[in-house]
Amino acid sequence: MTKRINDFQITEHFNLIEFQCPCCHRVLLNPLLVSKLELLRLKWGKPIIINSGFRCVSHNREVGGVIDSKHKLGQAADVRVISSEQGGFREIAVATGFSKAITYRKRGFVHLEIGA
Ligand SMILES: [Zn+2]
Ligand SMILES: [Zn+2]
Repeated sequence: MTKRINDFQITEHFNLIEFQCPCCHRVLLNPLLVSKLELLRLKWGKPIIINSGFRCVSHNREVGGVIDSKHKLGQAADVRVISSEQGGFREIAVATGFSKAITYRKRGFVHLEIGA
């Protein structure tokens, strides 16, 4: 069985490939980000789907990310959450220690980041 690069479990519920940049497959991932995501997964009790993890400079520009985006540092992830559940999800995320949890109701995701 052939495995793709970055395709391996890093915690019980997350695989490194979920965090890689979709354009170049490079990845930076702060260990604190994934350990907090794992904790959040346990509290939330449902699968957490990563929409966007690490972004290289050009991909961040392409998706309209802010210039100092924590996605470029491996300190942020966008997680798919349906609009009606975003309020509750955000509360749990803040209680888990994420420094920012920003809801994007229409786009169906929550941006999570850790402090530097
Ligand atoms: Zn890239
Ligand atoms: Zn984001």
